[in-house]
Amino acid sequence: MAGILSAIKLRRNGYNNFTIYEKAKRLGGTWRENTYPGIACDVPSHSYCYEFEPNPEWSHTCSPGAEILEYFENVAVKYGVTKHVQFEAEISQLRFEDDKWHLQCKDGQSGVFDFIVAATGVLHHPAYPDIPGLQTFTGPTFHSARWDHTVKLEGQRVGIIGTGSSAIQIIGDLSGKVAKLIQFQRTPQWILPRPNPTYSEQEKQYFRENPEAMQKIRAEQMQMFEHGFSSAVVGENPQALADIQAATLAHLENKVSDSVLREKLRPNYQAACKRLIMDDKYYDAIQHPDSELVTETISAIEPAGVRTADGKLHELDVLVIATGFKADQFLRPIEVIGRNGKTLEEAWADRPSAYLSVCAPDFPNLVMLNGPNGPVGNFSLIDVADIQLDFFMKLLDELQAGDYTAFAPKSEAAERFEAERVQATKNTVWVSGCKSWYLDDNGVPAAWPWSMHRFRTALGNPDFADFELTR
Ligand code: NAP
Repeated sequence: MAGILSAIKLRRNGYNNFTIYEKAKRLGGTWRENTYPGIACDVPSHSYCYEFEPNPEWSHTCSPGAEILEYFENVAVKYGVTKHVQFEAEISQLRFEDDKWHLQCKDGQSGVFDFIVAATGVLHHPAYPDIPGLQTFTGPTFHSARWDHTVKLEGQRVGIIGTGSSAIQIIGDLSGKVAKLIQFQRTPQWILPRPNPTYSEQEKQYFRENPEAMQKIRAEQMQMFEHGFSSAVVGENPQALADIQAATLAHLENKVSDSVLREKLRPNYQAACKRLIMDDKYYDAIQHPDSELVTETISAIEPAGVRTADGKLHELDVLVIATGFKADQFLRPIEVIGRNGKTLEEAWADRPSAYLSVCAPDFPNLVMLNGPNGPVGNFSLIDVADIQLDFFMKLLDELQAGDYTAFAPKSEAAERFEAERVQATKNTVWVSGCKSWYLDDNGVPAAWPWSMHRFRTALGNPDFADFELTR
C-alpha cells in the first residue's frame, strides 16, 4: 500500500519517471501475503484506506483482508500505477555510486536511479520459533503469513502457537469448524472489544451519494485514535491509558465465565504494552467446547504433535505457527551500499535507525516508508507513509529550488534525533514490563515514541539545516 501510494503521490507532484519493483506476481503487500482464516484489519476500513480514495463498498466497520487487497489492486489500476510495476523483480542490491543508485535484481535486470523509495513493509519476514523438533511434525505445518489453503481443516485437530493479533483472528474464525482447536499460549494478551457490524446496502448507497460522510467518519476515527490511543501509549494521556486498561479488563471479566480459564487469560502487565489486540470473537471462540488453551511451556514438537513441559503430548493433525515477524529487517535482505562503501548492515549494527523515521546518513536520496521508528501508536501505516511521502516531496522541492542533486541527513542530526528518541521511549507503555515486537534486542522500543501530532508536525516542517544538500 505504501508503494502504490508513492506512485500516486509522485505523479501528482509531476514526477512521472519511476519504476516500481515488486518481487511477487501481484500487488498488495501484507494483504497479499496474509490470507489466514478470519483475517481483517482492526483499523476501521473508512480510516484504513487512502484519504483521496474513500470506498463506499466496505462490507464491515473493519473489513476482511480479501476486500482490502481488492481495494489496493483497484486503486493501483484506477490511478495508472500498475503499468509502472515490474512484477517478479526481487531487488538483491542497491549501490550508491557516482551520485546514483545502481539497482540489481535477482533475475539479472538492473537499473540506475536518482532516488530510491523503500516501501518494503515492517512485518514481512516470518519469525519461526526456536522449538526443538519443529521440522519433525508429520502433519502440515505453516506460518500464519504462509497459509496453505490446500490443507483441509474440517474434522482435523489443529494446533496454533501464539497469542498475537494473527492467532486471535484465526481462532475467532476456526473455532467450531474443526474437530479440535488447541492454542499454545506463552503470554496472555489484553483484548479491547471491537464490535464489527456490517454496512447495510442502504448505508453503502448513502456513502456512494455522500462521499463527505465517509470523510467525516474518517476524521472522527482519526481524532479518537490520535487523542485516545496514540497519545496514551507514549505517556501523554494517562487517563486514556487507564480507560484502555479498564475496557480490556471489563472485556475479560464479562466474556470469560470459567474462572480457571479467565485467570489463564489474564495478563500480568499493562494493557497496550504489547500491540493491543482489538477483537470481539476470540473469548467466545476459546470457550467453545472443541477449543483448548494450553499454558504449559512447549518443550518440543514431535511427529504426532506438541509436547509440553508437564510431559503431555497434544496430538495434532495440523500445526499453525502464528509467532509473528522479524520486525527489524525493513529493506533487508537487500544489500544496501551507501556512500564510501558503507553498508546498511554496518550502519545498523546496533539497531536500525533513521532520522525522523525516514532517511539515514551515508545513504543519500534514499527514503524509507514505515521504516525504523515508523510505527506511530497503532496508527494506520497508510497515514504514516502518507506523511513520510509528503516529507520526501518537500525534500525534492528543496533540491529543485537550490539546484541540488542529493540530500542526506547530517550524522550529528541523525545521532541527536536517535538519542532524543531513545530517551523518549522511557515514557512509553512499551517499556512497562512486557516483551513485544516493538522492542529491539536491547529492549529499546523501535517505534515513534511521541504523539501522532508531533510526527505530523516534525515531518511537515523539515529543518533543512539538518541535511547535507549537495550539487
Ligand atoms: P505477534 O504479535 O508478534 O505474536 C507472536 C506470538 O507468538 C506471541 O504470542 C508470542 O508469544 C508467540 N511466540 C513467539 N515465539 C514463541 C515460542 N517460541 N513459543 C511460544 N510462543 C511463541 O505476531 P502476530 O500475531 O503475527 O502479529 C504481529 C503484528 O501484526 C501485530 O502486532 C499487528 O501489528 C500486526 N497485525 C495486525 C492485524 C490487524 O488487524 N491490523 C492483524 C494481525 C497482525 P510472547 O507474547 O510470549 O512473545
